[in-house]
Amino acid sequence: MIYERLLEKNIEWAEKIKRNESDFFEKNHKEQKPNFLWIGCSDSRVPSDQIMGTMPGEIFVHRNIANLVVNSDINCLSVLQYAVETLKVKHILVVGHYGCGGVRAAMEQHNLGIIGNWLNNIKDVYNLYENELSPLDDDKLDRLCELSVIEQVKNVGRTSIIENARCRGQEISIHGWIYNLKDGKIKDLGVNIDLDKSDECQSCL
Ligand SMILES: [Zn+2]
Repeated sequence: MIYERLLEKNIEWAEKIKRNESDFFEKNHKEQKPNFLWIGCSDSRVPSDQIMGTMPGEIFVHRNIANLVVNSDINCLSVLQYAVETLKVKHILVVGHYGCGGVRAAMEQHNLGIIGNWLNNIKDVYNLYENELSPLDDDKLDRLCELSVIEQVKNVGRTSIIENARCRGQEISIHGWIYNLKDGKIKDLGVNIDLDKSDECQSCL
């Protein structure tokens, strides 16, 4: 697709939205109140709105290579803080995908330069689960994709942003999901962390 075609497609899209809901942009431009934060992979095949049929305004999004939550990544933590403290999202979705190129690269021992530093975070996950992973063969990559999501959910839960939200009694759930490129379906890995009113911490108030 030549790049000018993208702009033509944009006009077609905006006009279609307006035909379906004439005041959509009028309402949408004033504020955002998303209930969801999506932390996903930069992979072009995993666009949150398209795979879930959601509209602009429904999901606040952070994407990076291999959907990692690293406690020194000020970009991801800034998104998380804004989503939790200002937007007050109800759900944080950490979404990996099978066949992730970032996870595959981390499993292979090539010299990757700067990106190698980033992917070392996945090597740490591999080392943590080496006993489970090393006997696997064809399904090793996909299992590591799942295990990495599970660890990123825990990393979100360990941030001071979530700890503070817990003390305030803010109701918020963190979920680990994985997307299958082969059939377009998302699987819930069942590793939720749920914060609710009962977590409110009197000593912090
Ligand atoms: Zn990926």
